Amino acid sequence: MRTNLILIVEDDANSRKLLRDALQVTGYETLEAVSGEQGLSLAAEHMPALILMDIQLPGINGVESLRRLRAEPATRAIPVIAVTASVMNTQRAEFQTAGFDGIEFKPVSVAGLLRRMRELIDAPNSGREVP
Ligand code: MN
Repeated sequence: MRTNLILIVEDDANSRKLLRDALQVTGYETLEAVSGEQGLSLAAEHMPALILMDIQLPGINGVESLRRLRAEPATRAIPVIAVTASVMNTQRAEFQTAGFDGIEFKPVSVAGLLRRMRELIDAPNSGREVP
């Protein structure tokens, strides 16, 4: 695992650029996927330290992508933060139940996101059972 490599799964080009620029200026390297399927493939190939996962994606959505990551022994320990426009409480509960390690709402607070990322990368298993 490369501890400074972050996978961004996001279909919106502007959102991808915002995240990429914020991460790169902070010293992270980034990989980008524009669909859940591509995200799964890049995660298995590159083993990033953390994944930022949009929810609304073409093909499988972010929740299903997370489920598949966690179903694979090779990728199940990678921390995943949901990045989503949704603000409804029912959806917030659904994301927590799904097992994301964090939830960031758009427009993303870069400082808050980076803080949560740092926590997860420094102690990736905090707060979650990893078999
Ligand atoms: Mn999207």
